[in-house]
Amino acid sequence: MTLNIRENEPLARYTTLKIGGTARYFVVVVSIDELKEAVLFARKKALPLFVLGGGSNMLIADGEIDALVIKMEIQGVKWIFPGFSIFNFQFSKSKDRVAVVGAGESWDAFVAETVEKGLWGLENLSGIPGTVGASPVQNIGAYGVEVKDSILWVEVFDVRTGKLVKLSNEECGFSYRDSIFKQEKGRSLIVLNVAFALQKNGIPRLEYKDIKENFKLQIESVKQEKAVEQITIQEIRKAVLEIRAGKFPDLAVYGTAGSFFKNPIISQEKFDELKKKFPGLPGFKAHGTGENETNTKPPRKVKVPLAWILDHICGMKGYSKGNVALFERQPIVVVNTGHATAEEITAFTNSVMRCVKEKTGIDVDCEVQKI
Ligand code: NAP
Repeated sequence: MTLNIRENEPLARYTTLKIGGTARYFVVVVSIDELKEAVLFARKKALPLFVLGGGSNMLIADGEIDALVIKMEIQGVKWIFPGFSIFNFQFSKSKDRVAVVGAGESWDAFVAETVEKGLWGLENLSGIPGTVGASPVQNIGAYGVEVKDSILWVEVFDVRTGKLVKLSNEECGFSYRDSIFKQEKGRSLIVLNVAFALQKNGIPRLEYKDIKENFKLQIESVKQEKAVEQITIQEIRKAVLEIRAGKFPDLAVYGTAGSFFKNPIISQEKFDELKKKFPGLPGFKAHGTGENETNTKPPRKVKVPLAWILDHICGMKGYSKGNVALFERQPIVVVNTGHATAEEITAFTNSVMRCVKEKTGIDVDCEVQKI
């Protein structure tokens, strides 16, 4: 097998921010064997490796990246029925079907397939750009659901040992938009396949304001207790796609990596202190389904919407500078309005984070990964 390793490949076209310099070496891999060969190539040249999926959550530096950049395109969706024992992983009694999905598959195409099959679990995560392989890295989440809730295991290639390993859900160390794959101990792991356990019968998750409002009329028009049960998985996907289209920028029009910043999670004491100063500040229980707003029962950690802080405390609604702006309808989304460089994006986002720190004392983390 001979890999097509290209030199000095421009990377901007592989990212949704449409920013980035060139890769010293670049290769597309479609199988585990190709990946192993690519890793060997990098080792011989003593080069670091960077793995790109859909490039939807990346800020790539300007200039030359002295590395081998691997574009992960391992495909395939295998459906496994109950009764089959796979890799010694037990089916949870509440899950009916398992899908083993290649890291290079499109996330949203896979979610569409689960919805078409009437399998519950991922419908609230409709419309998120990127690949299946990136979903556990980021522990993507939306509207009260996180991908960790449906992940059974993640198969990885460990560059350090040269071995294939299956990590259980627990071993992935999932937390809010975080996992082992973003931490030092997981940096040598390349995601190959992800197994999802899904259910034939699910309960619509409508806690979030945007989604609840979308179904308001339907809920009011039928008897309350029956209403939620009658909502179909297809209707939920449609609603989520509509909400996102109204709030997030169209990738065909804007260069963007979606939410650039994480919503901060702060202590209850810090939240109380800020709430005195800024009475309208919303806050949500950090690790729950969102049914309790903080003023009903105080949780220990509180998640605060950064969008509110940027709009109401920092006065940054519609803030722009040069080729970079905060998206008017959702300020935690940073857009490349022209031909921004990575340096411009970094200067701009640093100034946003500085403002939040000065006004609230909160240290904001970036959700976007930088290389
Ligand atoms: P939103 O619904 O306006 O929510 C803003 C913030 O408030 C988020 O931190 C959200 O938590 C929290 N929140 C809102 N309602 C809540 C409730 N009922 N219970 C608990 N927390 C609540 O957010 P948005 O910007 O329009 O985005 C819509 C959804 O897409 C959000 O869930 C957001 O996190 C998600 N999203 C995910 C990614 C990603 O995974 N990379 C990127 C962009 C947007 P959560 O963040 O925990 O949801």
